[in-house]
Amino acid sequence: MFPGKPIYFDYQATTPVAPQVLTAMLPYFTEIPGNPSSKEHWFGWESAAAVKQAREFLAAALNAQPEEIIFTSGATEANNLALKGIAEAYITKGKHIVTVKTEHAAVLGPCHYLEKYGFQVTYLDVTPEGFVHWESLKQALTPGTILVSVMLANNEIGVIQPLEKITQLCHKRGILVHTDAAQALGKIPLDVQALGVDLMSITAHKLYGPKGIGALYLRRNHPRIQLAAQVQGGGQEQGFRSGTLPTPLIVGFAQAVTLAAELLASESARLTQLREMLWQGLEPLGGIIRNGHWTQTLPGCLNVSVRGLDGTALIREIRSHLAISSGSACSSAKPEPSHVLQALGRTVAESRASIRFGLGRDTTVSDVNQAISVMTETVSQLRR
Ligand SMILES: *Cc1c(COP(=O)(O)O)cnc(C)c1O
Repeated sequence: MFPGKPIYFDYQATTPVAPQVLTAMLPYFTEIPGNPSSKEHWFGWESAAAVKQAREFLAAALNAQPEEIIFTSGATEANNLALKGIAEAYITKGKHIVTVKTEHAAVLGPCHYLEKYGFQVTYLDVTPEGFVHWESLKQALTPGTILVSVMLANNEIGVIQPLEKITQLCHKRGILVHTDAAQALGKIPLDVQALGVDLMSITAHKLYGPKGIGALYLRRNHPRIQLAAQVQGGGQEQGFRSGTLPTPLIVGFAQAVTLAAELLASESARLTQLREMLWQGLEPLGGIIRNGHWTQTLPGCLNVSVRGLDGTALIREIRSHLAISSGSACSSAKPEPSHVLQALGRTVAESRASIRFGLGRDTTVSDVNQAISVMTETVSQLRR
């Protein structure tokens, strides 16, 4: 390893592109540059065929239909399309949306935006383990509620929400359910029929696919769900999302999903083991809080807070050895402590002194041992 290059522990922020994914994408960057909407020549046909096949693979992996997949630039755009598109389409039915305090900024942002235009948004509390507070959810639903948006797996603490239970409750009351599944895809089994969700956001770059491609799953059975497009133009993606389809990225996305499905069982067992090994190495340091539920969580995610230490100094020291996150990558430009950890009941100081270890496909036992040594040395040094 290069001196000075830290060990990568930020797989929840993004992942490297898998070699098989890169190989699958390359021809569509070069030899087959066709626009999949060009119906007049070979290049267009080849490109359209690749998109069609990728869409079918992706749909099958989610237990969905190909026409239920709307390609977007990622989960942020898919969340924006879901929340704003439903709000706009159902405005005459109601103006109330329910979501959770621990959501990603890509859900909270569109919610705040909608509030400026007269929608009411309820931000549900979570239990100390990170689960949606069930009674609060039940009480929040009103006849004017048009959408409930609850993420499947949390990006900071990994906690997996009991979504089946939530969709059942909401559907009994005729309310649509959206989930941000950006962290879940490829890491836990994902079946839109079993989950019962109406809309689901996914992205490729959290599962060893390329950055800049994602999708919104939109249930298309009866009664048909209305969704207002948020990007107008050439009418691609059934008019839900205009813009030239990026064939190489779409091919890479499908390849990444296929590969992740093949590796899911073995990787999830291996990463769970590494995660627990890391925890067992950190716990003896004392004053370490493990954030979020311990088992209903992503295999490769461990989030800890260190009590009684200056968070800024801790993170600065750790980061020269380990590429970790404190809070989520998207909010770490602002020096604000994590809204997720505070929702769990952590103090501001505990939230600042928090470290998210993201373990992934290239993480080894030796990496985990290194992380334990770095943490041990840094914490004891700062305590002195
Ligand atoms: C990464 C992430 C996003 C954003 O996805 P992009 O594809 O980068 O826009 C949204 N939600 C969650 C939970 C994420 O982890």
